[in-house]
Amino acid sequence: MTYRRLWGSVSGAFLQKRPGVLLVLLAFLLSGCGSVSVLSGSSAAAANSSETTASSAATATGTATATTDFFAMNTYMTITANGVEAQAAIDAAQTEIYRLENELSRNLDASEISKINSNSGIGPVVVSQETFDIIAVAVTYSGLTDGAFDITIAPIMDIWGFKDSNYRVPAASEIQATLPLVGWSRIILDRTNMTVELPVVGMELDLGGIAKGYASDKVQKVMHGFNITSALISLGGNVAVFGPKADGSLWKIAISDPQAPDSYIGVLQATDVSVITSGGYERNFTQGGITYIHIMDPATGSPVQTDLLSVSIISPDGVQGDSLSTALFVMGKDKAIAYWQAHKDFACVLVTTTGEVFASADIKDTFALLDTKGSLTFFN
Ligand code: ADP
Ligand code: MG
Repeated sequence: MTYRRLWGSVSGAFLQKRPGVLLVLLAFLLSGCGSVSVLSGSSAAAANSSETTASSAATATGTATATTDFFAMNTYMTITANGVEAQAAIDAAQTEIYRLENELSRNLDASEISKINSNSGIGPVVVSQETFDIIAVAVTYSGLTDGAFDITIAPIMDIWGFKDSNYRVPAASEIQATLPLVGWSRIILDRTNMTVELPVVGMELDLGGIAKGYASDKVQKVMHGFNITSALISLGGNVAVFGPKADGSLWKIAISDPQAPDSYIGVLQATDVSVITSGGYERNFTQGGITYIHIMDPATGSPVQTDLLSVSIISPDGVQGDSLSTALFVMGKDKAIAYWQAHKDFACVLVTTTGEVFASADIKDTFALLDTKGSLTFFN
């Protein structure tokens, strides 16, 4: 369990998905000045806009804080770095995110994923090594999770209207007619020729459950190429931190309360780690008094009905965290706990529909609920 070594050194910031609050907290904790003026206007960040702010309060040692706040991959992102090359590091990080979006989004016609999708039932498509590897690792997690995680879920996302936000409840017959297009084991991967093939017309890939985790890992690699001491990368519900904070204080990563996403259910102390959360509260629509969420059960072709409100995975591996946050959410509490018990190569926090919190015992010393929140049980 390589991630265990991470709990030794901790430094800190409070995080939250909503960009305004997040940035205020980041400015306070990372720049050490507490001034919200650094962030003025950033809470109103709009789609396709971006804003970058470098701290004017450089220290005597020449370090500085820089933050960029932008919209990509269908979510608000905030990247902050501390160090001599903080501004260059966040610029490179943002460029990297856009590059990955152009490669992996199925909503962009020119992306490699779109090329694979438009050739379903036609033939194999040559892709970059990077795209090939992401698909291959997604397939690995499909196998590990018995298909709870399945990137061939795209046609099901579409009939529920999640592709273009034209939400609708499809007829049962439409779901049954679409389900045969879903099946991760039918993706044909040819590593020698670096091709990906979807053998049935209408099959499509959707990397929405893994792309941000991959991007988080990749952005960290890019940022490590610069002279910075620490960074905080928040890609929607995905948060990664690395490096010790200059003042030695702790990173405190807050996990949103899925029943009140503007507040937190608990706080984890860590560094060099990703904390990735999946929850039905992130994207959904309500019709006839029923709420339909954006995480699908590949077995039924419908939004997951589960006893969980959110799953957070804590791991240095963002790809693992992103795939497993989605998969364990699909599984529900008991199967999620059983999955952890069978693997134990990550940590997790599960919040149930009854507001109870269950966390893996390996974060007993580093995760705590906020005072006013419900019960917490650690499992082994
Ligand atoms: P978010 O991206 O909102 O943080 P997730 O990581 O759980 O949340 O990813 C949800 C996205 O993953 C959906 O929007 C969809 O693109 C895709 N998806 C939905 N259900 C599944 C599933 N069972 N397996 C893999 N991907 C899924
Ligand atoms: Mg995910």
